[in-house]
Amino acid sequence: MKLAERYTHLTDKVLKELNRGLAKKRRSRDSHGCCKLIGELNRVYTRRSRILREILRLLPFFLAAVIVKHHSRILKIEELNVDPTGTKGALAKAIYNMPDNAFIYEKAVWLASSELGYNVLLEQVNPFNTSQLHNVCGGALDRKLGHYDYAYCKACGLKVNTHFNAALNISLKQGRPLSSRSFPPLNAREGNHSNDG
Ligand SMILES: [Zn+2]
Repeated sequence: MKLAERYTHLTDKVLKELNRGLAKKRRSRDSHGCCKLIGELNRVYTRRSRILREILRLLPFFLAAVIVKHHSRILKIEELNVDPTGTKGALAKAIYNMPDNAFIYEKAVWLASSELGYNVLLEQVNPFNTSQLHNVCGGALDRKLGHYDYAYCKACGLKVNTHFNAALNISLKQGRPLSSRSFPPLNAREGNHSNDG
């Protein structure tokens, strides 16, 4: 969660400010100032991509821990590479648009299954409306810019946690199984580290 906070901070604050500063220096034709800011921007982009890589490395273990804690039987995820709403935050978008992000969920399910002793299923659901409708009353949420974590329901007026609301909507949708790639069989996990890293 700390890494996620840092990623969001760099995206929403640091990079925005640096880009704004760079535009100002360009307008005033300050080439030395531009050079300095471009160097700083590159350093921040590098730092941010390192943080993202570390998040992606840890994510399967984090998800597996949640699955194990709740003894879940199914992990439902939205269909990959589709974001019809465009309301997701920068980090969610970065992970969502990864070409091979199915690997994160497949590894999470595999890790959790080995811990729980039964096969946790991985299912995809259609993302249509999962972040738009209030799970309690079915009304539309007011997803204006800046209403990322919370939004007001246009029908009942409640302040809704958009993440929790979307998770509930996803959990109630009909899922279809995602074909799992070949991880080593669970009982052969010891002594086989070919999938590590
Ligand atoms: Zn409502």
